[in-house]
Parts: sequence; structure tokens; C-alpha cells
Amino acid sequence: MLITHDTECALSSLVELLNTAPEVCGTELLPDVAALDAFVVRQEISEIDSLTEEDLHRVHDLRSRLREVFGTESTAAAAELVNGIVAAAGTTPRLTNHDHHGWHIHYFAPHAALGDHLAAELGMALAFIFMAGERERLRTCEAPDCARVFVDLSRNRSRRYCDSRTCGNRLHVAAYRARQRSAETVPTI
Ligand SMILES: [Zn+2]
Ligand SMILES: [Zn+2]
Repeated sequence: MLITHDTECALSSLVELLNTAPEVCGTELLPDVAALDAFVVRQEISEIDSLTEEDLHRVHDLRSRLREVFGTESTAAAAELVNGIVAAAGTTPRLTNHDHHGWHIHYFAPHAALGDHLAAELGMALAFIFMAGERERLRTCEAPDCARVFVDLSRNRSRRYCDSRTCGNRLHVAAYRARQRSAETVPTI
């Protein structure tokens, strides 16, 4: 799979962002500027100075648009959404090696507002996934009462559940029961 480490990091931020939505967890996990600020710190998003209410609204709006990409039926439809997101962000690709990171590309314009910054970086990460023919790795958790998204980077693309403790346990319980069933039906020698 032709997915770089930078793209993987951006995809991880994308998943974190989408899973903050109230439709996903019942509560808005980015309710105010302070929560957004904490998100920026946690995701190590560079070149962000101070955040305002306006940033918060724009990130909420971007989050809904990015979520739509996960629900598309075809790569063509997903590509159209991503093209729109990236175009609106005013991307200016440039090489940088800030903070002892190796040389990598920033797609956001210098000191872009957080919404544009995320639109450029997360949009381009999605673009790389589509370019690699890996759109099917963008998944929504299969647990019946869970709407969290994740990117399945497993080798055999076999992941079905998100990382949340409940869904992970559900998977383990199901696997345990399956093992018990097969232990009952297949006598051990
Ligand atoms: Zn960087
Ligand atoms: Zn889940």
C-alpha cells in the first residue's frame, strides 16, 4: 500500500476529529474553543496561534463534510467531495522540516486558520488513500449501536470494529464464544 507515514498520521487525526461529533457519541466532544485547543495540542497540529468561536464553527462544518466522504457509494462521489474540501482550503504545498521532523509536505497555506489547515491536510490524506485504490479502508464500526469511523490499516483489511473499549470487547466476546462453540463441536485429541 502506497500510504506514507505522514498520511497515516493525518488519517489518525481525521478519525479523531470525526469521532468527536455528537451523532457519533451522543455528546459534542468539541463543545467550545478550549476543547478545540486541546484537540490541536493532542494532535500536534503545527502553526496554529489562537483560536476563536469562528474556528470552532468552521471545524464543526468541516467535520460534517469529511464525514460525508465516509458514506459515499463510489470513489467518484468521494473524490468530488474531497476536491471541494481541498479547493476551498487554498492549499499551497511546501516542503518543511520543522521541529526535527524529517522533510515532509505541508499542504495548508502558511498560518492558515485551523479549518483551512485541517481541510487541506485531511483532504489530501483522503486523496492519497483514493489514489492508492484503498477507499474501502475507510470504515464505520460494525457494532450495531456505534457510529465511530476508523481507517483499517491492517494488512488483510479485516478490521470491523472501532478502537473503543466497548466495541473491542464485543469483538473479543464474540471470538471467545466462537472458540467455545468450536471446542464443543470438535473434540480435542
Ligand atoms: Zn509538519
Ligand atoms: Zn465501535
